[in-house]
Amino acid sequence: MNNDFTWPQGHTAAAAFTFDVDAESCVLAHDPTSANRMSLMSHQSYGPRVGVPRILRLLERQGVHATFFVPGFTAECYPDTVRAIIDGGHEVGHHGYLHEPMKGLDAATEARYLDRGLDALEEVAGIRPVGYRAPWWEMNWHTPELLAERGFVYDSSLLDGDEPYLMATSPESGRTLIEIPVDWALDDWEQYAFYPGVTGSGVIESPAKVLEMWTLEAEAQHAEGGCFVLTNHPFISGRPSKAAALERLVENVKAMDGMWVTTLGEIAAHAQRVCTEPFTHTRFEIPTFPDVQIRRTPPARATLRSKS
Ligand SMILES: [Zn+2]
Repeated sequence: MNNDFTWPQGHTAAAAFTFDVDAESCVLAHDPTSANRMSLMSHQSYGPRVGVPRILRLLERQGVHATFFVPGFTAECYPDTVRAIIDGGHEVGHHGYLHEPMKGLDAATEARYLDRGLDALEEVAGIRPVGYRAPWWEMNWHTPELLAERGFVYDSSLLDGDEPYLMATSPESGRTLIEIPVDWALDDWEQYAFYPGVTGSGVIESPAKVLEMWTLEAEAQHAEGGCFVLTNHPFISGRPSKAAALERLVENVKAMDGMWVTTLGEIAAHAQRVCTEPFTHTRFEIPTFPDVQIRRTPPARATLRSKS
């Protein structure tokens, strides 16, 4: 339980700008035959080749440090891009090796992907990330324990809070992890992503509308003392008009009184200091269907986590 989360002295809320540098990895993992599509590959490589440099210039102008989640395969393909991110003073986090689909994955296989991603970041950039974001934000129940075993400090893939919290990684191990929750409404994929045969909505929204929507969310999080976490993809939001709207958003958020604009790593380090009681997620088991008998572990109570 974490009903009285406080921010560092002088701050009443926090905001983090995060970038998932998926590049080719997410479409290759989804469908390996994507490799045969030259135009699709070019759409993805726009991220590390053009989008990341533009975003790095934007962040430098604004004096803001961000968190970049980089799949190991992206790091191997674009080592200079990863080094430029680090040289800009930004945080690099783990985002799988080939942005593998996580749904239904067994723990041993997932552990191999995690280790391969760690090895790639170590080889390319000499770093050991403290933060993880699951590809497609898809966590398995065994994922937190695998992360804790590898010394990760935080994850940012779950969707059940307005501010960071301490979570128990498994009922047995006694290990914990900081979770910094995300929200699909704060992901540029839903707003802008379009590629024939690959993406969902097919609607490319106006950056003016997106700026309005994200500013409203930031204002509300600021008023609530929450944590605004934006997730952008350089192959999407690195395009000119979208990056320009993003810069306006950064300016808006920076202007909010008492807003702490920083990396997820900094937010996690703070959360480690102030969160003491780990939250245990409720698991459901539905052994028979449609003759439903639902078991809860742990049972009711101890599952509410609200500010008041
Ligand atoms: Zn991703």
